[in-house]
Amino acid sequence: MNDKCPVCNHDLIPFTEGSTTGVRCSYCDYSIVTTYIEPIYEDDNIYTVVLEAGNSVDMSTIKVISKITGKNYIFSKQYLENAPAIIAKGIAAEIIEMKSQLDSSNVKYSISPEFPY
Ligand SMILES: [Zn+2]
Repeated sequence: MNDKCPVCNHDLIPFTEGSTTGVRCSYCDYSIVTTYIEPIYEDDNIYTVVLEAGNSVDMSTIKVISKITGKNYIFSKQYLENAPAIIAKGIAAEIIEMKSQLDSSNVKYSISPEFPY
């Protein structure tokens, strides 16, 4: 990245600001945004997914829990029986995938801290 500013010919300096990255001139106001990163992929908070009590202990729910926890059906059934139970922890980009699985299966769960996506 040794590009020169097309306006004033000073060096262009890479920058990252919030969700954008790009290059900007070291001298004048010229800049180019090269990447926009979705905020969810920048969010490095660790979220905790808690399986709430009151879910029915049936095969479809067990399958979803198994998929999320990576455990077999026996363990997954125990999560349901021992709810509330922590079934996952991860960054937003990982949690969003689990959230869609839980939502589409009508599983009762909560995420803390509040999950804004
Ligand atoms: Zn410039």
